Amino acid sequence: MVSSPSFFEMRRRNIEDVLACVRNNAGISRAELSKTLGLAKATVSDIVDELTGKTVLEEIGVKESSGGRPAVGLQFNPNYGLVLGVSLDESEISGCLMNLDGDTITNFSSRIDHTWNGTKIAEFLSDRLFSALKEENSGIERILAVGIAVPGPVSDGASTDEVSSFLETDKVKKILAIRTRCLPVVESNTNMAALAEIRNSKIKDSELVFVLRIGHKIRSAVMCSGILLNGSGGLSGEFGHLSVPNNKRLCDCGTRGCIDTVASTAAMIKLGQDSGLRVRSIGGLLESAGKDDPVAQAIFAEAGKAIGFGLGQVINLLAPHAVIVAGPAVKNENLIMRSLRNKVRKCAKLENRNNCRIITGSAAGNSECIGAGLLALKKLDISDACLTAERVAVG
Ligand SMILES: [Zn+2]
Repeated sequence: MVSSPSFFEMRRRNIEDVLACVRNNAGISRAELSKTLGLAKATVSDIVDELTGKTVLEEIGVKESSGGRPAVGLQFNPNYGLVLGVSLDESEISGCLMNLDGDTITNFSSRIDHTWNGTKIAEFLSDRLFSALKEENSGIERILAVGIAVPGPVSDGASTDEVSSFLETDKVKKILAIRTRCLPVVESNTNMAALAEIRNSKIKDSELVFVLRIGHKIRSAVMCSGILLNGSGGLSGEFGHLSVPNNKRLCDCGTRGCIDTVASTAAMIKLGQDSGLRVRSIGGLLESAGKDDPVAQAIFAEAGKAIGFGLGQVINLLAPHAVIVAGPAVKNENLIMRSLRNKVRKCAKLENRNNCRIITGSAAGNSECIGAGLLALKKLDISDACLTAERVAVG
């Protein structure tokens, strides 16, 4: 026998419905909510009073009325709570605070070195978080969710990557959980960056998207119907280890010919140095190419060809609606992207490539922490967070 839901369960469901309805229909009145949701006017008024009292909902002025008392429109207050997004990397840590619409309010970052362990990283993040909250005249209770982007594949909330263990990311997660009273969502930095790129590119949730990030390694993410596909053990996305013909270079995975050996930022810098260019960063190589240095330009063109070959296979296999190519190397659209698009044209089937948009993503370095915030927001039960009694943070 199925028991009927308790009063509290019913109320909770009604609150969820009211919140969702107001979020999707800004300006809706109490009477319209009651009609749309099939709830008694008194029930709706009671819930709306509670949510406006907590500033989860706001009244936005009087609506025109055909008679009786003028109706007041309602909207969700995206600044009711904040989400912290964090990205940990071997050379830099960064964070951002965003509101409940996913709009970034503030960013912070710091270069790090081998002396930074988990405790020091967590202390830095906590200090920056508390300073940012102070500027917002807010307390820690306003943080409703935390996301952490970490290097490498993630399975069951933990990364197995060497850099992650070196940075003691598990310890960072535990300390941030205590400080914020939110259990952080942990995901690979590639997947997190993909979320930010997908949001920037205004991709529809229903679309199949393949996101490529050209960094120290070239990794990829697939999102289908709004869900990130991680594969068994979180190990999918090793685009950089697809091989290209006529490439005999040895990869650190032990095989020869991987795309990473010619097209990762590390490989491109090394190729530049081996050819006599005095470059130490991908920014330096971009600068040389921008000044018409033929060697630097050829390195980007070869990288674009190798990635384009791999993408052609992906487009044939998955037929995605869109491919986003992001990372610092795409800063100059004319360099890597031109040869990449040409190669895709040669390698992908006509029908598949005609149905696939190839989008140049962001070259900025903060997409991992923004994506970390977006994933935490995606997993946040806002009605639950709004109804939870005042949380007491441990300072
Ligand atoms: Zn490899």
